[in-house]
Amino acid sequence: MTLFSRIASLVLVAVVGPAFAQPTEKPTISHAEIRDNVHLIQGDGGNIVVVEGDRSLLVIDNGYPEQAADLFNTIMEVGNKPLRFMVNTHWHFDHAGGNDYLGPRTNLVAHDNVRKRLQEGMNFEAFKRVVPPAAPHALPVVTYEDSTTLYEGKQVIRLRHFANGHTDGDSIAFIEPSKIVHMGDHLFANWFPFVDLQSGGSVQGMARNVAAVLAMIDEDWVVVPGHGPLSKKADLARTHEMLTRSISWMEERLSEGLSLEQISEQGLPEQLQSWGAGFIKEANWIATLYASLSNAD
Ligand SMILES: [Zn+2]
Repeated sequence: MTLFSRIASLVLVAVVGPAFAQPTEKPTISHAEIRDNVHLIQGDGGNIVVVEGDRSLLVIDNGYPEQAADLFNTIMEVGNKPLRFMVNTHWHFDHAGGNDYLGPRTNLVAHDNVRKRLQEGMNFEAFKRVVPPAAPHALPVVTYEDSTTLYEGKQVIRLRHFANGHTDGDSIAFIEPSKIVHMGDHLFANWFPFVDLQSGGSVQGMARNVAAVLAMIDEDWVVVPGHGPLSKKADLARTHEMLTRSISWMEERLSEGLSLEQISEQGLPEQLQSWGAGFIKEANWIATLYASLSNAD
């Protein structure tokens, strides 16, 4: 077992919770308008945004494979129109899990690395789950490198790649002129985030990317997290502060030459502890920080 896998396993043990839990048998799906015919759908997976134009729909993310049919029905309730574009903010199966079902019904759009990772599949150590290579119809048919722009009705949807944050293929979607940003998993409202180190993510990259988004939006923007309730710029700023505090805290421990075990025994400072109420608990977060900030691989 490599050092990375050892640390990865430590990160992953006990990673259980709503975001990556097995979907419940009875689908729990709700939808509500955010503003200007842009809607939020919440199921068991990541948050889904539907941009409704006059003749068609653009959808960002599509949840778990098990919920794909129900989510499709909900999307049709929101607006019974053709699905012109379906964006994957990243490859994870709670965000792009509906690709297999929805791929033949739409045009899948994502960053280059999303197509690559879906095409290759992987042994996802964090969840002890083998992700098989996706079927050709479940792969994005439009990919981009740095940024691209889509149009739906009155909305202009700018997709920008933010490198090596949650994964190495994250898109953040800026929906203008309605001032709505879908952060993908660069934001877990009020929780420590899951950072997928195995897929090229890093905590430092996430902090850098969140800072970049903060510089691009003002207080009027609605911030859609990957998981959790609709948020504001101030909430994103709080998350940024948590990330930078966590990083400097871990850097100090590492400079003292402490081991992961010793750091875990010390525990997080009090001001960071409330963030551990989600599915990434304190121990997972410490192990993620340790792996991300030490030259562990
Ligand atoms: Zn994710």
